[in-house]
Order: sequence, then C-alpha cells, then structure tokens
Amino acid sequence: MSVQVAGMAAPSRPAEPGPLPPPGLGVAGAPCPLPAPAGEREAAAPAAGCGAERPPVSGCPGLPAAGLGLPPGAAKVPQASAMKRSDPHHPQHRHRDGGDGGAGREALVSPDGTVTEAPRTVKKIQFADQKQEFNKRPTKIGRRSLSRSISQSSTDSYSSAASYTDSSDDETSPRDKQQKNSKGSSDFCVKNIKQAEFGRREIEIAEQEMPALMALRKRAQGEKPLAGAKIVGCTHITAQTAVLMETLGALGAQCRWAACNIYSTLNEVAAALAESGFPVFAWKGESEDDFWWCIDRCVNVEGWQPNMILDDGGDLTHWIYKKYPNMFKKIKGIVEESVTGVHRLYQLSKAGKLCVPAMNVNDSVTKQKFDNLYCCRESILDGLKRTTDMMFGGKQVVVCGYGEVGKGCCAALKAMGSIVYVTEIDPICALQACMDGFRLVKLNEVIRQVDIVITCTGNKNVVTREHLDRMKNSCIVCNMGHSNTEIDVASLRTPELTWERVRSQVDHVIWPDGKRIVLLAEGRLLNLSCSTVPTFVLSITATTQALALIELYNAPEGRYKQDVYLLPKKMDEYVASLHLPTFDAHLTELTDEQAKYLGLNKNGPFKPNYYRCWF
Ligand code: NAD
Repeated sequence: MSVQVAGMAAPSRPAEPGPLPPPGLGVAGAPCPLPAPAGEREAAAPAAGCGAERPPVSGCPGLPAAGLGLPPGAAKVPQASAMKRSDPHHPQHRHRDGGDGGAGREALVSPDGTVTEAPRTVKKIQFADQKQEFNKRPTKIGRRSLSRSISQSSTDSYSSAASYTDSSDDETSPRDKQQKNSKGSSDFCVKNIKQAEFGRREIEIAEQEMPALMALRKRAQGEKPLAGAKIVGCTHITAQTAVLMETLGALGAQCRWAACNIYSTLNEVAAALAESGFPVFAWKGESEDDFWWCIDRCVNVEGWQPNMILDDGGDLTHWIYKKYPNMFKKIKGIVEESVTGVHRLYQLSKAGKLCVPAMNVNDSVTKQKFDNLYCCRESILDGLKRTTDMMFGGKQVVVCGYGEVGKGCCAALKAMGSIVYVTEIDPICALQACMDGFRLVKLNEVIRQVDIVITCTGNKNVVTREHLDRMKNSCIVCNMGHSNTEIDVASLRTPELTWERVRSQVDHVIWPDGKRIVLLAEGRLLNLSCSTVPTFVLSITATTQALALIELYNAPEGRYKQDVYLLPKKMDEYVASLHLPTFDAHLTELTDEQAKYLGLNKNGPFKPNYYRCWF
C-alpha cells in the first residue's frame, strides 16, 4: 500500500511508550455493565486462559506502519509524567462521549492522559445480558418506553439530520420484513432497502468532505492492508460512517455493522450500505431489544468470525466479551472512539480481563482537539438558528466554561457580533478568556440581562432553577457540554410552570407571570440534537479510526500487548497531513540544521506524545 506521506520515514524519536493511565478509570456506581474491577492491574498480564489463546499476528504485505512511516507502535498513555492529578490549577478535560453526547459515564482526563473519576449522574443501564432470545415485537409505544431503559449513550441523539425518506407511516418492524438487495442478499436488516438510492447520494455528498479517507482508498489500490480483516462495527450509521466503511472495504476488510445509538441511524444510508453488500443491522428508532438483536446479528453469524472491533460506546465490545468469550479471545484489536467505551476498556484492563490490544481513539489529539473545538465552533450557530431563527448580532450571550467547546462557541458568536460573557472556575482558562477579549463574569451577574445562555462545562447543575427564575423573558437556554446534566431541567418540571412544545426540540417554559424561556433540546446537546456536525471534522476522526485499525491489524506480534494504547503522535500527524491538501496548505520543512537543533527527525513526529496542544 503506497499510503506513505512524501518524505516520511521512520522517526528518530520513537513514541515513548509510558505506563497506562491509572487503573482507576472505573467509576464507582458506574452504569457500565462490565464486571467490577478487582484490585490493581498488572499492566500487561492477561487474564488466565485469555491472552494465551490469541492467534499469532500474521505479518501483512502492505504493513501500513512501515508504509506510512509510522513509529513502531502506539504509545500507552503516560501516567506519572508531567502533571499531578491533585494540581488545582490543572485543567482537566471531561471527555465528550464519542458522539453519544455523554452518558453519565464520565472521566476527567488530564492533558497527560491521567484519568480520574468524575462525579457521576447515576443512571442505570439495563444491559440486555440476560436476554437469551430476541423475539419481542413491541408496539411503537412499547418500543419508545423500552428505549428508556437502554444505555443513555445509545439514546442521546447524535444528529437530527433530516432523513429525507423516513416514513413514519411504516410501523412494521424491520425485523418482520423480508428484504433483499438487488444482488439477492438478505444478510442485513434496515428500514427500507428501497431507500438505497437516496442514501447513496448522501454518501456521495459526504465523500466530498472526507478527503483523507478518499486518499486512503486511492493509495490502497493494489495493496490491501486490511485483507483478511473481519471488522465488526458499532457506530452511528450516518453518511460519514458509510464513507469509513466503504474505505475499510476498499482496503480489503469485510465489515458487519450495527448502530451504537437507537435514534441516529440514517435509514437511507443504512439501505445504501445494504444495497452495496454491507451486512448492516440498524434503523432509526430501534427498541432496546432491537438494539441488542442488531448487535448480535452482526456477531453471531455462521462461517464468519470477526477479528477486529470498531466500537463507539463499548456496547459491542461488551456484548462479545460477555456472550462470546471464545470469539473475544480471537479478536486481534479493538478500536474505541468514545470516552465511555475507553472507560470500559480500562476497567477490563484493570481487572486483568482485557485479552486484546485496544486503541483509545477518543484521546487522540486529532479526535479531541478538532471534534470539541472546531465541531462546536461550526455547529453552535447552526443549532441556534435552526431552532430559533434568531439573529446573533448585538445579542448578549453568556457561555459557561471556556474549554475547547466553550472556546469554539465563543469564537463563533463573537464573529457574528454577539456580546459574549464567559464564566469559568479555572483561572487559566479564565485568563485565556480575558486575553481573547471576553468579559469574565459570574453567572449571577449577567443572568438577568443575557439573551442566550450556553453551557459547555462538562459539569452538572451549572444553570440552576434560581438562574432560570431570574432570566429575562425569551431568554434562550441550551447546552453544548455534557449530556443533559448542565442545566437543571428537572427543576422546571413543577406544577406552576407550563411547558409548551413550539417546535421539535424547542420548548417554551412559562412562568405564572407570563415570562417564558426558550429551552432547546430539553437541555441535551444542542448541536447533536438540533443540527448536523461538519463532515470534515468527522473525517479527521474517521481517518484516525481507520489508521488505528490498520495499525492494530498489521502490527507484528508483540508490538501490542493486552492493553489500551494511544495512537502515536506520528499517526496523528499523518491524519492531519492527509487533510491539509484540502486547504492547499504548504507545510514548511525543517532544514537539517533546524532538525538537529530541535533534536527531531525531519519527518516527524514533531511533538512528544504527551503534547496535546491544549492551548
Ligand atoms: P474542557 O474541560 O476543555 O472545558 C470545560 C471547562 O468548563 C473547563 O475549563 C472547566 O474549568 C470549566 N468549568 C467546569 N465547571 C464549571 C462551572 N461550574 N462553571 C464554569 N466553568 C466550569 O472540556 P471541553 O472539551 O470543552 O468539553 C466540555 C464538554 O463538552 C464535555 O462534557 C464534552 O464531553 C462535551 N463535548 C461536546 C461536544 C459537542 O459536540 N457538543 C463536542 C465535544 C465535547
């Protein structure tokens, strides 16, 4: 595979493997259904009878690690390096939960990768572990109520992107339909295979904004670095995922896919994938039973055994781990995107039960930095506009939290002429806000005058009932941060207040004196619920996932142990470099003298692994 970046050669400074993040990632009372961790973990020790059964990792002719000029292995997250967890001035990052909008399963992760427990919203996940059969066909109402007990990561809507062909009239469960694609295959379960053509157009649009995956496809012609890979995936099924899946196919992989979220599947995209031969089991509005059934249909298939997992949220991984332990032992690698899933992997690792190497894509700079900052910068205005048709110029806005998400929101609103106030608890981020030209205030100081309140803290109850009581008439309140915890929406469900649904995802909450506030998405993530997110940003994440799969699949035996790894900096740099041509960007090359002066290889990596470009 000729996916080499011009001039990239083996780095002189390989990624420093460090110890894992503290094996305390498990959260007490976590809804994660994984077994409770027992005691301290021996980093690389496989559980008895587990690791030993892994098949030998065969070499691959198109070994991309070599072809890409990548360092000989991904880095474990450094543990004791750099910062101390107790440092009160140290900005901790509560991770977005991989597109599921957070799930009450939180981790505070320091820039050095150190992870601590976060205060939790305890929300019980009913894991369908015990279900032995999938024969329920709940009514539509039944399906809705069932879905409430599913993991929140599976219910937080990713995007309300219009599904042009969605027919709410069609009440028949896809599980009850007999469908075949044009080649006669019925190895899929989607809402309506006839929507394939519309889905294909969606995919073609997404391809335009996913240059790196398209480049990987081109460069992979001839050589197939994923030949023999049997990837089972569980992610949002959107046009962007379709581009990723078809890229994996072009690289030689066989894929079977289910949705990680019961609401986020674009039915026409699922249909297009099924039409082009991908066994996809997903539709918008699955019940909990459907959700696990779909996952099982991906995994439990005669004559096909997955050897790689691509997961977003950890449900698929856990399903295989619990239901098919022998299959789990034969998996060559897991790639996990979300904080929740990574969390679960660390828990397994801590318990000494992770018998498979895993890549933590969530903590890649190319995921976090771009997703949190740029995705929100691009989508905050879209979410507000679609729901309220408001004009931003001259409006007073308070943004709570000046981390990555807050910075993105503030930048977008400032550019539109809004007057932006910021609240912060961390003096460093507060100072940044000041130096970026924003007034740092306490929420109480401005709550009576602002037109819009936006939360981006990853925290809970940042906007309380008291704040809500004091807001002026028509104030818009929304959340861009964590799940649905930041605004105390529950406090608004009292008899004296009237709720009026004025649009999808828009509620007026009316006080007895007639004052009303405009609550968006019931306090859930605005952009993921009410707008689309930029494909280009998703392209960066998807490329990172693809490279992680290639790396794990092709890694020579011994490079990765049964542990959780971060992608090496070199690979992050490679992902970035694949996206640069879109901008006709011209990268400066180090001279020999400069490279020597900085102690770098001219071709990278240019930063140490712990460098997260936080600021
Ligand atoms: P971050 O840690 O960089 O920023 C959060 C900031 O909020 C921190 O600077 C922190 O000091 C501050 N903060 C905490 N409590 C506060 C309070 N009570 N008042 C004021 N400030 C407070 O994290 P981030 O990357 O900006 O992500 C924030 C949240 O957004 C996370 O929950 C993340 O999961 C989520 N997220 C959402 C999206 C999206 O698309 N909407 C994308 C990525 C991340």
